Amino acid sequence: MTFSASTVVQWRDVLTFAALMGCGAVCIEASRRLGMPAGVSRDLLSAWWLPVALLLPPVYALFAPIVLQVLLQVRVRATVLYRRVFSSAAIGLAGCTASIVFHALVDDPWVLSQGSGPPILSAVLAAVLFSLLNIALIAIAAHTANPDSAWREVLWDRESVMLDVVELCLGVIVSIGCGLNLGLLVLALPPVVLLQRSLLHAQLQAAARTDAKTGLLNAAAWQREADTEIVRARRTGDTLALLIIDIDHFKRVNDAHGHLVGDQVLVGVASMLRSQLRDYDVVGRFGGEEFVVLLPGADIDEARRVAERLRVRIGHMAIPVDDTLVRVTISAGVALLSVHGDDLIDLLTAADLALYRAKELGRDRVCIPAVQPPPRPLPNDPSTP
Ligand code: GH3
Ligand code: MG
Ligand code: MG
Repeated sequence: MTFSASTVVQWRDVLTFAALMGCGAVCIEASRRLGMPAGVSRDLLSAWWLPVALLLPPVYALFAPIVLQVLLQVRVRATVLYRRVFSSAAIGLAGCTASIVFHALVDDPWVLSQGSGPPILSAVLAAVLFSLLNIALIAIAAHTANPDSAWREVLWDRESVMLDVVELCLGVIVSIGCGLNLGLLVLALPPVVLLQRSLLHAQLQAAARTDAKTGLLNAAAWQREADTEIVRARRTGDTLALLIIDIDHFKRVNDAHGHLVGDQVLVGVASMLRSQLRDYDVVGRFGGEEFVVLLPGADIDEARRVAERLRVRIGHMAIPVDDTLVRVTISAGVALLSVHGDDLIDLLTAADLALYRAKELGRDRVCIPAVQPPPRPLPNDPSTP
C-alpha cells in the first residue's frame, strides 16, 4: 500500500517534471531564431525551474537546468562549455536550496493549489531565496568575465530586479496551476513565450547599440543619438558642445605591453569618461582609441572645463600590469554648436581639426578650432548678393 502510494506520487513527479521541461523546451525553440546576445544574458526559464523546485523533491531541481542548458547549447548557441556547466550548477544549487527550504516549511507541496495563505507565502519566500542565490551567482559570473566592473554594477540593476520579480511571480503562479491540473500549463505557455521573446529582443537591441569592449555606445548608435540632441538644441536654442578624445601614443602601449593590456586601458578610459560625465551626456567609442562626447547645454567654457577635467583624471589613472603601472594621456578637440558648425558633420570636422592641432602642439592638451567661421548670412540679409 505504502509502496503503491509512493509509486503513484513518483509518477506524478516524473510527469510534472517532463511537462515543465517540455514547456522550457518550447520556450527555447520559440525564441531560437532571434539568437542570443553575447555575454551574460537573461531569460525567463525560471518560470519552469521554480515549479520544479517547489513541487518536486529537491533532486529534480538539480537536474532541470542540465536538461535546458543542453538544449540551449545544442539548439541556440554553442558557447564555451564551462559557462554552461557554471550556469547549470548555479541554477541547480539555487533551485535545490529553495526546494529544501520550501519542503521544510510545507509538509505537502501540492497543497499550494488549495489557495491558502501560508503555503503560498512559503513559496514566495523560497522563490525569493532562489532569486537571491541566482543573483549572487550571476554577479560572480559577470565579475569573473569582467573583473574591472564594480560589484554594485553587477549586483544592482533596476531592469534585472524587475525581471527577478516577474520570474518569481510567474514561477509561483505556474506552480499553483500545475498543482490544479497539469493541462493548465498549456494556458501558461503562450504568455511566457511572448514575454521571453520580447525580453530577448530588448537585450539584442541593447547589444546592437553598444561597443562590446567598452560598454559605451558604438559609433552608429552615438551618431543617431547625437543627431537627435543636435536637432533638439537647435529647436530650443540651447547650447551644445562636442568633444573628440584620442589617446596619445596608444600604439606604443600596444607595442610595449601587448593588445590585451591595450584593451584594459581602453576599458579604463571608457569607464573614467562615463563616471566623470552626467547621465544625459552622450558618450561613444568612435573607433580604435577615439571617443566622442556630446555635452548638451554646455557652452564653450564649460566644454573646455569638462575636457580639461577628463584630461587630468585620465592622465592620473594608472593601470597595473605585471610589476609596472601603465599611464596614458589624451588629447581632445572641442567644438560648439552654432559657433563651429550647425550639424553633426560640421561639428565633428571642427573638433577633429582642433584635435589635430592638439596633437601637433605636443599632445596631452585640449584645443578649440583655431579659426571661428563667420556666421552664415541669413537668407533675407540685404548684404548678401
Ligand atoms: P597619436 O598620439 O598620434 O594618436 O598616436 P597613436 O599611437 O595613439 O595613434 P595611431 O593612430 O598611430 O595608433 C592607434 C593604435 O590604436 C593602433 C591600433 O593598433 C590601436 N588600436 C585600435 N583599436 C584597438 C583596440 O581595440 N585594442 C587595442 N589594444 N588597440 C587598438
Ligand atoms: Mg591616438
Ligand atoms: Mg586615433
